Amino acid sequence: MRMKKMLARGAVLLGAVSLTAVVHAADVVLINFDPPGFGLNDPTPAEPLPSNPGTTVGEQRLISFQAGANKWGATLQSDVPIFVAASFQPRPCSANGGVLASAGPASVFSDFPGAEQADTWYVGALADSVAGEDLDPGFIDSVAFFNSELGTPGCLENSGWYYGLDGNEAPNEIDFLAVVTHELAHGLGFLELVSESTGALFAGRQDIYSTFMFDTNQGKFFNEMTDAERLQAQVSSGNLVWTGENVTAQAPETLGPRSAIQILRPKALKGFLDVQQASFGPPLGLNGGMTGQVALANDGEGVATDACEPISNRELRGKIALIDRGGCAFTTKVLNAQAAGAKGAIVANNQPGGPAPMGGFSPFVTIPSVGITLEQGDAIKGADKVNLKLILNPDKLAGANDDGQVLLYAPNPVQPGSSKSHFDTSASPDLLMEPSITSSLDAANDLDLTPALFDDIGWILQ
Ligand SMILES: [Zn+2]
Repeated sequence: MRMKKMLARGAVLLGAVSLTAVVHAADVVLINFDPPGFGLNDPTPAEPLPSNPGTTVGEQRLISFQAGANKWGATLQSDVPIFVAASFQPRPCSANGGVLASAGPASVFSDFPGAEQADTWYVGALADSVAGEDLDPGFIDSVAFFNSELGTPGCLENSGWYYGLDGNEAPNEIDFLAVVTHELAHGLGFLELVSESTGALFAGRQDIYSTFMFDTNQGKFFNEMTDAERLQAQVSSGNLVWTGENVTAQAPETLGPRSAIQILRPKALKGFLDVQQASFGPPLGLNGGMTGQVALANDGEGVATDACEPISNRELRGKIALIDRGGCAFTTKVLNAQAAGAKGAIVANNQPGGPAPMGGFSPFVTIPSVGITLEQGDAIKGADKVNLKLILNPDKLAGANDDGQVLLYAPNPVQPGSSKSHFDTSASPDLLMEPSITSSLDAANDLDLTPALFDDIGWILQ
């Protein structure tokens, strides 16, 4: 058996742990790493919530953390307790964004008793479960750090943690339970160990998660690639898929239909285009969607088709506006089209690659909008009287490829600490293991595709 310490290298001796003879539900034990008066021990009085009776900030954090731990305990089987260390610490953060938390296994093991695949790393908690014994007695299995600065000046100042267990956070709050549940999943094995900078396998060996990672562009699994090919695959958004059979089997029940443009006219362009749904404005409709004629935006200034300035002519009234990316925020473009009477908007990328990403937030946008690629934009501009629908395509899954394999997060450039070890952001509804936590998650009740992925890597589910 081989073992590598990854994080928290210092010995962490635990108090006596009493084991009953047979434990089926996994016992996820929280080890509080915070000093007195801080983080999980914060004595600041807190108003008890309907779903969290804690009377201090620290108590509410502990209750919420334990709820996340219990959720995984009730989902996975293990006769060996899982020891998770947790701590509040400053994480990289700014006024507009930041790292909410980070987590990972404390150690990984290969070639232990019962290991299904030889020469393959498994995270400690999973290895313990498979071996039926604690392979590293007296040491923690994983660690999770939560941002202690959230909601303070310079770190998402207008935000803050929500400690209720009911998923009812305010729009500006971040659901601590969802973040805990997400981070615990990383520690339980929802991560790969391949170097983002060199493409090398961790300590010369594949890990069980990455054995399910396949690049449809190269037609290769990660463990069949050279380091250079792995570097290419990790930024191959839309082509990096999870091949585990349990995730693939569950995907149609979990993922919704994919956002699309259905071109109705002219005949030469007829068909569906995959698009990027905007993160703002109303969702696209399933039944029939919105049909309209395309009109090119023209604001008469600078790049006339960028819709960065108000549009005064009437060309867009009742039409679906076609706009070019660049010069201003996506929300500004769509709001200018909306003010000019457009009933929908399409933003074409101004550089080769994927569709315009359509990020941003505005409560004032009331028309649907989507992003398309430069090439798709050129094709529509080159045609006469284009009629199309903004629609949800019932035949394709949002977050999977056309073969129904669920996509992994693989943006270009690589996002250290996020790429590969999450599902892709195109998944809809949002998944627990996307790189960003969204308010639609209900982590107390729905772990969506994550248990299926654990099933794939060798966990026994309850
Ligand atoms: Zn994550």
